[in-house]
Amino acid sequence: MGRIRKGYEARFHALLQRAQARRREQGVQWLLAKADRLSEDKGISLADALTATYENLAGQPYFQRARPVAAPERFFCDAGLGGLARWLRAAGYEALWQPDIADDELLRRAREHPATVLTTDSMLMERRLVRDRIIPAVWLPPTLSIADQLALVVREFGLSLREPRCMACGGELVRADKEALRERIPPKTYSWLDEYFLCSRCDRLFWHGTHWQRIRDQLGRVASETGGHAESRRILSSSGSIAK
Ligand SMILES: [Zn+2]
Repeated sequence: MGRIRKGYEARFHALLQRAQARRREQGVQWLLAKADRLSEDKGISLADALTATYENLAGQPYFQRARPVAAPERFFCDAGLGGLARWLRAAGYEALWQPDIADDELLRRAREHPATVLTTDSMLMERRLVRDRIIPAVWLPPTLSIADQLALVVREFGLSLREPRCMACGGELVRADKEALRERIPPKTYSWLDEYFLCSRCDRLFWHGTHWQRIRDQLGRVASETGGHAESRRILSSSGSIAK
């Protein structure tokens, strides 16, 4: 629980900083105490109380206006967030991920790209480069499901859904010529489907599938819950593709 509390401490701090609140340290302590009380009064876990306190604050119009104007160029997900990286790519964002990457290496590469770090490790948020906002980073509660993690990131940055990217590597998908790919397409699929896409980076082949339908539905839900733009939802639906 100590780590979750630490993580929220960093989130509260970042939120107050973005809204240019004064006396931030005091504000953070006040919010933590508020969550403690909420947990006790309502008999809910401290993790849930911290989430509720954060959501409540972030949902206030004043804090919503303080949202970053531009979406990050790309994200760098920590070693434990491979699933989230795949979903971010499906939502059209570049999301880097490498299993077993060491913290130092992750920070070095995030700075080099540059990329916004997404992590469930509250210790990472303590690093000087992160604390000083030289490398932008967002801590995600490790207790969340992938869908909830995605919803949180979408809300945090006001992301709108874009053309899907390759879920395996993040490369751009380009429409491909069916005949030229005949040997790579399973005969059954070939017989009824005409639209195919190739990843411009790893050359993986994609087409409409039930898996994609599920992902698309889920992304659509996240977008509408978090006020994503109707326009981008339309783009995502009409391009409907990928994932075998
Ligand atoms: Zn790819």
